[in-house]
Order: sequence, then structure tokens, then C-alpha cells
Amino acid sequence: MKAEIIAVGSELLLGQITNTNAKFISAQLAEIGIDVFYQTVVGDNPSRLEETIRIAESRADLIIFSGGLGPTKDDLTKETIAKHIGCDLEMDEEALTSIEAYFERTGRTMTDNNRKQALVLEGATVLVNRNGMAPGMAAIAGGRTYILLPGPPHEMEPMFRQEAVPYLQQLLGHQEAIISTVVKFFGIGEAELAARLQDLLDRQTNPTIAPLATRDAVTLRLTAKAPSESEARGLIAPVIDELRDQVGAYIVGFDEDTLPSKAADLLLAKGLTISAAESLTAGLFTSLLAEQPGISRSLAGGMTVYTREAKIRQLGVDPSLLDRFGIVSAECAKTLAEKVRSRFGTDIGVGLTGAAGPDPHDGEPAGTVWIGIAAEDRTEAYQLRLSGLRNTNRERAANYALYYLIRLLEH
Ligand code: ATP
Ligand code: MG
Repeated sequence: MKAEIIAVGSELLLGQITNTNAKFISAQLAEIGIDVFYQTVVGDNPSRLEETIRIAESRADLIIFSGGLGPTKDDLTKETIAKHIGCDLEMDEEALTSIEAYFERTGRTMTDNNRKQALVLEGATVLVNRNGMAPGMAAIAGGRTYILLPGPPHEMEPMFRQEAVPYLQQLLGHQEAIISTVVKFFGIGEAELAARLQDLLDRQTNPTIAPLATRDAVTLRLTAKAPSESEARGLIAPVIDELRDQVGAYIVGFDEDTLPSKAADLLLAKGLTISAAESLTAGLFTSLLAEQPGISRSLAGGMTVYTREAKIRQLGVDPSLLDRFGIVSAECAKTLAEKVRSRFGTDIGVGLTGAAGPDPHDGEPAGTVWIGIAAEDRTEAYQLRLSGLRNTNRERAANYALYYLIRLLEH
């Protein structure tokens, strides 16, 4: 099966948004063995869209569209395709009911345009949208398959995984279930991880293990194939156990987990409260935690204590301690953590101090960071030697603080 992806949207052509949908869809198709030979982008213009469809039809048998399923006048994808393949649009009652329920719930008034969103190509298989209004759809015409997906990635991606992939697998006559899990690491580089897992990586075929490094994280994607979903999961489980054995200290989560989400989940699950005193990160750490819904049950607050005076006056740090050990020191980080913990009356206190760069700070070279974490029974300090630019160092310091917090909470 040869596929072409057509992303519809003038914003893409104007350079206002990046075509992440094509990237996502291509990666998903590769996983189920469908070759993508072309990715096309076209604006919200019916005649150019039709021309694009005609070209795609000359070289692909699976054509996947993203965008233009919304309620507004420039959303023309399904109307154009319907006209082109010569079929009508019909009301999908289930989608209509869920759109009506949405408007009832939010107390907003529904317009005819919103009804239009529930129209699907006649006879199409509806792909349920659990995160938005417009349903996706898959239709077969003239021996080709047309799949229409909404533009917003948070709607399109889950729809693709949950609805389009099983549809395509069935179409391909796959008897197999393909399951994949992403394991996320922190605090270890890609090369070191690969070296430590050399044996496992060499011998592993089902699941396959694919390393992937992004700016902030190193990940491994495990993909297993088996006759059923549960058997595929059964193949993945022992490999995860082996990863935990060999490099467990660096595993910070799975799939959609991020450092902040994982830290927040653990804090909330354990019913622990937290506060932070931040010097070089000036609030980044608390801000990352605050991105997580529900965190107000755990995050009491934080203080930016940037200067020496602020540390002394606002938080009550003993000046003689700073004189003896310096501002960029384990002792300072621990004191920040302990003082903020008692000031906010939380279970955990976090202190961050360091030389963000480019210049040394208080005698310590740029990139030296100390993270203190105070809990009821003990206070720990961790040192980092970072080599990035100033703001990369600040971000990494905040991420490392989350990482050490996760380690502490997991044990
Ligand atoms: P809506 O109901 O939101 O109008 P839609 O299905 O009509 O959805 P579009 O109007 O084409 O989709 O795009 C809506 C938004 O989705 C865009 O503003 C953009 O943020 C995002 N989006 C659209 N296409 C892409 C793409 N190819 N890659 C990444 N994001 C996209
Ligand atoms: Mg739209």
C-alpha cells in the first residue's frame, strides 16, 4: 500500500505553523508497514485541493488528509473530497449527539456550522473524536482509501492511534497486534545508554528497541508484534523489567509521562506537599510543577531568592554559612531547601543554587549547580556540572531537580 499525506491549511503555507501532523502520521504508518511516498501541503482552496487530490490519486492508494474539518468557511476538506469522488455527505447521528452534548455542557449556543461538523462522507467509517467535535472518517472509492482527520494535533493524534491504525491494520488484513511503549530516560546520554544496553539492543527482535534522543530526553521505543494485544504486551513486559534492572535509575516514565507530570503524579499519589527556594532558576522549577493540573493540592509555593541579601533577609539563611561554604555549595542548597520547607510548612523543600553562566559565580565555574532536597528525615544535595548556555543550564537545573525529586519519591 502506497500512501500520500495531504496537510490542508493556509497557515502551513504561510509558515505560521509547522506540519507536525505529517511527521506524526508518517511515523505511525511506518510502524505498521505502510510506505509514505509523498507528503503534500495545500492551502484552504478547493480548486488547488482538488488538483492535489488528483495528483495523489495518480501515485497513491491511501490518501490521508489532515485539517479543514472545522466549522468555519475555510474548512472545505470533506466537501471538496465528496464532490471529487462523487458522493453525498450524511449526518452522523452519534457525532451530532456528542456535539450537542458539548454545547449543552458548556452553555454555549450551537450554530448550523457546528451541525455541519457532524456530516461525514456517505458510507464512510467514522473515526471517533474524543478530544474535539469534528469526527474523522475513512472512505473507499475507486479502489482507493481516503482518510480525513481534524487539524489540531491533540485531536488528530489520539484519533489516529485509536481509530485509524486499527482500521488500516484490518484493511491490510493484519492478523497481528502491534503495541508500542516509549520508555523515557533522564540523566544519561544516548551513547552511554546504548553502550550499557548493547547486549539487549543486539539480541532484541520482538519487541524491537529503537533509541531516540530529543533535546531534553533520551527515549527507547519498544514495539512488539503478536497475534493479540495482550500477547504483544506480554512480550514488552519482561524487556521493561530488564531495563529496570540495568538502567532503572534513569527511567523517569513511559509514553506521555514528562518529568513534571511524573513528579506531580508521585507527589499527589503520596499526598505530599512541596515548596521551593530558587536562585539561578528563579521560579522555573515551581513553574514546571504548576503546569500540572491538580498540583495545588501539593505545591504550596516558592520563593525566588536571587541575591545573597535575599537569601539572608527573605529566607533567613545564616550569613556565616554563606561566608564559609559559598553561595554555590551543597550547604547553601541544603539550607535553602530546609528553610523554605519550614517557612511553607511543607513535607518537602527544594533549593536550587548555582552559576548559570556565562561567568563564574562566587568562585564557582559557570554550569556548577547544587540542588538540595529536604524531607522530614533527611536532606540531600546533588551537584551538576553543566556545559550549556546560560538558559539551557537554568532549564536543565530545574529538570534535574524534578529528576532527583522523582528518584527520592520512588524510593
Ligand atoms: P478546527 O475545528 O480547529 O478548525 P480543522 O480540522 O478545521 O480544525 P484546521 O482549521 O485546518 O483544522 O486547523 C486547526 C488548527 O490545527 C491549526 O490552527 C493548527 O494549530 C492545527 N493544525 C492544522 N494542521 C496542522 C498540521 N498539519 N500540523 C500541525 N498542526 C496543524
Ligand atoms: Mg478549521
